[in-house]
Amino acid sequence: MVRNLDGKQLAQTMQVEIATEVAEFGRRTGMTPGLAAILVGENPASQVYVRNKRKACDAVGMASWLNALPADTSQAQLLDLIARLNVDSKVHGILVQLPLPRQIDESKIVQAVLPEKDVDGFGPENLGLLASGQARFLPCTPSGVQQILLRNHIEVDGRHVVIVGRSNIVGKPLALILMQKAAGANATVTVCHSRSRDLVALTRQADVVVVAIGQAKFLKADMIRPGAVVIDVGINRLPDGKLCGDVAYDAVAPLASAITPVPGGVGPMTITMLLRNTFESAKLIHKRLKP
Ligand code: NDP
Repeated sequence: MVRNLDGKQLAQTMQVEIATEVAEFGRRTGMTPGLAAILVGENPASQVYVRNKRKACDAVGMASWLNALPADTSQAQLLDLIARLNVDSKVHGILVQLPLPRQIDESKIVQAVLPEKDVDGFGPENLGLLASGQARFLPCTPSGVQQILLRNHIEVDGRHVVIVGRSNIVGKPLALILMQKAAGANATVTVCHSRSRDLVALTRQADVVVVAIGQAKFLKADMIRPGAVVIDVGINRLPDGKLCGDVAYDAVAPLASAITPVPGGVGPMTITMLLRNTFESAKLIHKRLKP
């Protein structure tokens, strides 16, 4: 029988672990890890994401603040807010909820976040550290995928992982994470995208297939090797309002040895890894202040 990789349950388990560590850290140092969220405009999905991230902070005993700005906020105003949060000693992580309105250059904003507080791990310094094998913060969604594999004892060492999607927030950093010379990694990684030729031939070679492209039910049963592990990062809303992933779950699951559902797979892990990174940031800042 296929193994359902339950990200919701794992996220709960890991959040209990984080809460215990945060409480112990607070007793020892008097510090409460804190996350400042920035939301520009009124995108309903972004509002839900930010609300859930703040709720999760609360649940593990971390502080969080919401900086909600109007949709017509200028780039200069947003940069000014980030500059203030960068030097605010109560703030250990800064989360800029993407996407941003058109008048704002996302890459400029991502680069403005102090690398020590870049808990999304999207900035050039943190991505560079990851690429050079000295990771500080791993980007949250790919890091969540790695945790799902690790905690379910799915070994990727020496195995072939095929990732469909090469975005800067999922596919590309996931490839960097899984190819690291490190425990929980050491995979042989192939990254595919919209220009890849004969995608089916590539995905059929995989021991582990990860799909992150944003197209509902894209990965069909004939695209995997029987027994492969399937990780579905996609979140798509169907016309009837239901959520579904990038994998045709009902057709693929009977062939896979293990598979993540949507919802309840990778999604809940993203928030958990954001909490983990914010806590790591607080620990690093404490260590720098009181070595
Ligand atoms: P992007 O749109 O930034 O990137 C999509 C990638 O998929 C691109 O590299 C694109 O190729 C590739 N692609 C698109 N169509 C095809 C195709 N037919 N065949 C092969 N490759 C294709 O998406 P994101 O990475 O931001 O997000 C991907 C999905 O993951 C979305 O559904 C998103 O909602 C979800 N997501 C889920 C998260 C979670 O917490 N679970 C977090 C982040 C995202 P090219 O580069 O050539 O254009």
